[in-house]
Amino acid sequence: MSKFYVCTAIPYVNDKPHIGHAMDFLYADILARYRRQQGDDVVFQIGTDEHGAKIAEKAEEAGQTPKEYADSIVPLWEAFTQKAGISNDRFVRTTDEAHEQRAQIIWENLSEHIYKGSYTGWYCVGCEEYKTETHVKDTAGTCPDHNRSYDKLEEDNYFFRLSDFTERVAEAISTDEVRIIPEYRKKEILNLVTSGLEDISISRPADKIAWGIGVPGDDTQVMYVWFEALMNYITVIGYPEHDDFATYWPADIQLIGKDILRFHAAIWPAMLMGLELPLPRVLYAHGHVGSDGIKMSKTLGNVIDPVEVIDKHGLDAFRYFFARHIPSYDDGDFTWEKFEQVYNSELANDLGNAVSRVAAMVVKYQEGVIGTIPPAGHDIQRYINALEDCRFDTALEEVWEQVRGLNGYIEQEKPWELAKEADTEHLGEVLAYMCGALLQIADLLVPFMPDTADAIAGVFSTGVVKPLDGPLFPKDVVAKQ
Ligand SMILES: [Zn+2]
Repeated sequence: MSKFYVCTAIPYVNDKPHIGHAMDFLYADILARYRRQQGDDVVFQIGTDEHGAKIAEKAEEAGQTPKEYADSIVPLWEAFTQKAGISNDRFVRTTDEAHEQRAQIIWENLSEHIYKGSYTGWYCVGCEEYKTETHVKDTAGTCPDHNRSYDKLEEDNYFFRLSDFTERVAEAISTDEVRIIPEYRKKEILNLVTSGLEDISISRPADKIAWGIGVPGDDTQVMYVWFEALMNYITVIGYPEHDDFATYWPADIQLIGKDILRFHAAIWPAMLMGLELPLPRVLYAHGHVGSDGIKMSKTLGNVIDPVEVIDKHGLDAFRYFFARHIPSYDDGDFTWEKFEQVYNSELANDLGNAVSRVAAMVVKYQEGVIGTIPPAGHDIQRYINALEDCRFDTALEEVWEQVRGLNGYIEQEKPWELAKEADTEHLGEVLAYMCGALLQIADLLVPFMPDTADAIAGVFSTGVVKPLDGPLFPKDVVAKQ
């Protein structure tokens, strides 16, 4: 048994969960379930990022303290992840006392790489990011993502000597010490790193933004929210002294959206190097999900609410669509039309029908008794490789090859004719083979569609068919839409 530690990026609590967050959680959950199925000792972290000017602003609008505001939003996230079937076993809040204390220890342990200086430049509160002069010029002084003008900062800050780590970070990326998936994003970030990393500001004056973790030994400064949030990946397992930290670090994989690759591929590894800790083994950056070919935005009113998808079509249909039909290495697109077409053809017809037909035939011709199920002989190496490479789409494609193969086999062997010919021996073999194929399919679906996998196994696994009450993927659910 090996350990497997999987981490997701922690979202700000200024918004309710959207599909982008859902993708992070879903992909991580698939890996966590897959590893548990292999018998690995899995730790799976999710959490919320609760400090910074953006949260303080939101709280003020709501007439609450930042902590009250965060406390009111966090349950939405917990409810959402439950609804999406996310099997995390850790939930870190950056306002947890343990995180705050450990963040201060991290700061102290990085102190030889930290110096005080003054920062003159720009900041977008929406992004919670320092912006370069070039960027500000290019965007005419207004953040295109947040439609707000940048704040001009002239203040004393602490800085992290990121520049000292340029060569080591570049080396770690190019040698796959931290393997960045997909490969083309590795090239992108490597270009950025090799062009030279600059020192970064890692604190803000407490009199300007008080909502943050205090800098140890200097109560005039709080930590910059990003710098502190990155630490969650180790604070949640008890850096520096807890047994869990010794057992589970380094992360076996960290999952992030492509927009925050720079923080995770350049700054985070440098912080870990400063702490003399090993780097995460894999960093997987997934793309974004648009709707009908355009970016989802509140202004356009084309935001797809993951909860609505789950409510309408069920959890496993949601998990299936997003894992298979959003390209694992690229941006993807959601439309209700596409979703329903996939639901009908791939779930209700390909898989659902295979299950109900096979079960019905065993009941009809053999009074439900399956007999000896031969070991399913399908080669699953490509499925395994796909999961190793975070090709969730390819892994499910492989499973559907088997589903289609089984449907083809049913048509080819025509058990109903074998029954007419009273060829009971061959009929028994054919039906047992089909049941075995479905059990293997169920096994491969465990990480992706746990309820469906359970349901299929429940029908065939005891040797006597226990038919389902209704279809696995009822079509009338879609018709209601
Ligand atoms: Zn912005």
